[in-house]
Amino acid sequence: MRKPIVIANWKLNGGLDLICTSVASFIGKHFSAQIAICPPYLYMRDMMTFLQYSELQIGSQNVSRYESGAYTGETSAQMLKQAGCSLCLIGHSERRAMFAENNEGCRIKVRTAINHGLLPVLCVGENQEEREAGTTQQVLHKQMYEGLSGVDLSIGDLCVAYEPVWAIGTGLAATPQIAQDIHQYIRSELAKIFDQKTADRIRILYGGSVNKNNANELLKQKDVDGLLVGGASLDPGHFLAICERASELTA
Ligand code: PEP
Repeated sequence: MRKPIVIANWKLNGGLDLICTSVASFIGKHFSAQIAICPPYLYMRDMMTFLQYSELQIGSQNVSRYESGAYTGETSAQMLKQAGCSLCLIGHSERRAMFAENNEGCRIKVRTAINHGLLPVLCVGENQEEREAGTTQQVLHKQMYEGLSGVDLSIGDLCVAYEPVWAIGTGLAATPQIAQDIHQYIRSELAKIFDQKTADRIRILYGGSVNKNNANELLKQKDVDGLLVGGASLDPGHFLAICERASELTA
């Protein structure tokens, strides 16, 4: 059975107040799901100091494709690992759209993350235009093949997050049925890129306007193994409720 995973993506939001209230709401609570928060880099160390009192993990919103050197503004996988990070998002649609990230770069980042013991979460998803044109599967196929082929999973694991761009921050989440259909497709592609056994163990998260009201039905879908939560994760009580839903489903 795949252990559910819930990841909060704070993007360029939050500060010390949010860290304190978020971590406080998780203290002393037990979850059967894996839970992580991806705060802005600057706050990771602050968050880390509270972690001994909770089961929360820290994730990164990005990772450098480079190991070290003259790459101003970058943060390497090794640094993230040393800072106590467990996982990192790769290829979020905002990075693809606003910072020119491409599939080739994502593949290098996935490899780098694995090599340094971080769990890479490769984000894929079509935009509204592509959806209306009926090209969702082609878009996902390209993102996955170019983002994952040649990646060696014998030394580490991988997650894929299906984040339809039309659902991110719009309040229009994919229906549970759409999510299930696409996740099933993603798993079938993963079986071709790797093999069926590997595809069966890779966790596929859904992201895009998840909230405490729709989390349950999304998580009940056979191939939805977790959630990536943006806006709703900025409200600690709301995020906690989503994490509790994920944990209840495994209990
Ligand atoms: C995201 O950007 O990863 C995301 C899922 O955002 P939201 O939940 O706000 O749609």
